[in-house]
Amino acid sequence: MTAKRERAYPILDHLASATGVLALLGRRLRSSVIVLMYHKVLPDRIADDCPHRKLVIRETTFAGQVAWLAKHTRVQPLREALATRESDLPTVSLTFDDGYRDNAEIAAPLLERAGLRATFFVSTDFIDGTPLWFDQAAFAHARLGAEKAGDLLRIEGEALDASRFLDHLKRLPAERRAAAVTELANRAPPLPDDLIYAAMRPDQLAELGDAGHEIASHGIRHEMLPDLGTEALTAELAGSSERIRAWTGEAPVGFCYPNGYSNPTVEAATAAAGYEYACSTTRGVHRPGRNLFRLRRRLISEKNTADVNGRHVDALFAGEVLGLHRIIRHALGRSSR
Ligand SMILES: [Zn+2]
Repeated sequence: MTAKRERAYPILDHLASATGVLALLGRRLRSSVIVLMYHKVLPDRIADDCPHRKLVIRETTFAGQVAWLAKHTRVQPLREALATRESDLPTVSLTFDDGYRDNAEIAAPLLERAGLRATFFVSTDFIDGTPLWFDQAAFAHARLGAEKAGDLLRIEGEALDASRFLDHLKRLPAERRAAAVTELANRAPPLPDDLIYAAMRPDQLAELGDAGHEIASHGIRHEMLPDLGTEALTAELAGSSERIRAWTGEAPVGFCYPNGYSNPTVEAATAAAGYEYACSTTRGVHRPGRNLFRLRRRLISEKNTADVNGRHVDALFAGEVLGLHRIIRHALGRSSR
């Protein structure tokens, strides 16, 4: 099936271009903003070492995506995309969550060479030197082994695999999660100082801002905002804004809910803190008139945009961005991949 699929893609790609399907889909999306969600772009040789592999795009794959976007869409930072009117090309915003250093050292140079700019949502404590709790937990889990790490949290004596372990931590109240992660960090070796775990430095953030990218907020500690009391919620929203302003000279207008978790209270508090829009992780595109504090996005993963060997495929990527991919899969009777 794999070989058949690989042979089919270039044919479908040509067909889509020749019959104007791409252009048609693009026209249908002209008044929308297609917001793409990224986290990490890593050099090919270390991409597989990341414990959150689903959130990683290989550098060469990303380069292919950038080339396609530059040719077929109008790319703008989200702040600008939301403020501008229809264009002849579909409008796309690339958003990067969390604030990883690879964003500044791998992704941004590729974007800039193509004349494109993006939006970077950063967790400010991460930039200030505190590892992201889920990175710390995933690394500790891998190093300590499920048995030990699971016992640390005393989950009815059951050892959890990495993904269930992170899910469990996610559901704990903020204080208990912080205590558990601190305990894990004490027991595990320190996080390696490499691109898989490193945060951008404040000077790199400032440089991105100077180069025309948008620097926006992802809160301070990557907390689940609906779980927080009023004071803690306000602190996350206002505190991260102040920190970013100190680094870039400009208060952020965009916010991205950690893990996509929000509710009407969180959305109202985000607006009250001075933000003009906020991103969720709900799948879809942003159409005019929809709630600006619940923007939908499309998660770009290698699974859905590259072939089985991790190589960029125009037709697949176009499918994710414009909806073509879904139509092709339906036409071929393949419900999912
Ligand atoms: Zn995040």
